[in-house]
Amino acid sequence: MDTGNSDVERALVRKYPGLTVELKPSGSCSISGVICNKGIWRSLKLYLPHYPVLHGFVLYVQFGVEYKIFSPDNLKLQDDWMLEDLLDNLEKILPAKETESISKKPKTTYQGNIYSDILDLRKSKEYRMQIDDDCSVLRLSEFNEHERHYLELEIPSLRVRDHSLPECVSLGEMLTKSARTLEEVINLFRKLLEDLRPFYDNFMDIDELCHVLQPSPATTKHKSRVFPLKDRVYLKLTIGDPFACIASMALQIIGPTDEVAQLRQVLSEGLGNWDSEVDIHKNLLRMFDLCFFPMPDWCDGPKQDEEDNEELRCNICFSYRLDSGEVPLVSCDNPKCVLRCHAGCLKEWFQTQMEGKTFLEVSFGLCPFCKAKLSTSFAALLDE
Ligand SMILES: [Zn+2]
Ligand SMILES: [Zn+2]
Repeated sequence: MDTGNSDVERALVRKYPGLTVELKPSGSCSISGVICNKGIWRSLKLYLPHYPVLHGFVLYVQFGVEYKIFSPDNLKLQDDWMLEDLLDNLEKILPAKETESISKKPKTTYQGNIYSDILDLRKSKEYRMQIDDDCSVLRLSEFNEHERHYLELEIPSLRVRDHSLPECVSLGEMLTKSARTLEEVINLFRKLLEDLRPFYDNFMDIDELCHVLQPSPATTKHKSRVFPLKDRVYLKLTIGDPFACIASMALQIIGPTDEVAQLRQVLSEGLGNWDSEVDIHKNLLRMFDLCFFPMPDWCDGPKQDEEDNEELRCNICFSYRLDSGEVPLVSCDNPKCVLRCHAGCLKEWFQTQMEGKTFLEVSFGLCPFCKAKLSTSFAALLDE
């Protein structure tokens, strides 16, 4: 490969990081992406059939929702221009009226120029900033020490499009109230990440050291976790208010009736001796007098895929993980019964039995296989 060409390519991408350059073996070159020239963002595609000379180029530039086509016939270039000159002078040679139409497009209450703010803030090492092809969505991600978090804003309005915080955090409202510029929005979001540090720290050990079954996968948005406490018994931890973890924490024991009753006793005594110096995971271990929570039997060999284990499948729908992430956890009070179901499948099944009145003896609460009691604690699996 001609190294001269790839040098040009590298220099170009360094200068306009929003562009991707693709050199074809045939000698042609196509360039696409976004560039900023004199404070104006453009989304473009440029095709050069005789790279590196500009002769015969076709340039597509986005105006509003459509692309306009430019070529040497309707753009005035100087004879000695190379690719870089074309890009550097883009704002000078594109029709003035069109230039206006795109820079006037942002009609909002935003004070200042959002596009120049983006340029200023883009250099920060504290987070990553990406802008989509239409220059209408700005994504901030990879925040220092909060890697999994992200914030997506519509631009130029700065309306929140998506974010990584739990749904109950009314981020849109907070931003409208107290952040006017892009910088203020970013600062507020980062402050919230700091305020929510205890919330995420409490889930950290649980996600790492417990076999979390629900939600699957657990994300930064989720406020609860279901994991095994012992055979056929699960613990569901829910944090109602992420800004007040311990005060809003709820613990539910899910499993056969007798065991749930006993463990609830242990739980209520344990809550009286809560140690606020250590996290929820350590408190729970102490409370249930455990060294660790049960993990799958992966120690003897390679990690076995739970999806392939027939014993773990739902006895109603015969699958393991549903699209919602739910796995079969429900069992009945009879320790010899093989029943294992998704809470949702069982609920649906009981509903059709009752509506159809086919089996009058079947009522919600009895195992469909052995007729033993089904613990009402499993209802806790249904609300998410
Ligand atoms: Zn099922
Ligand atoms: Zn049963």
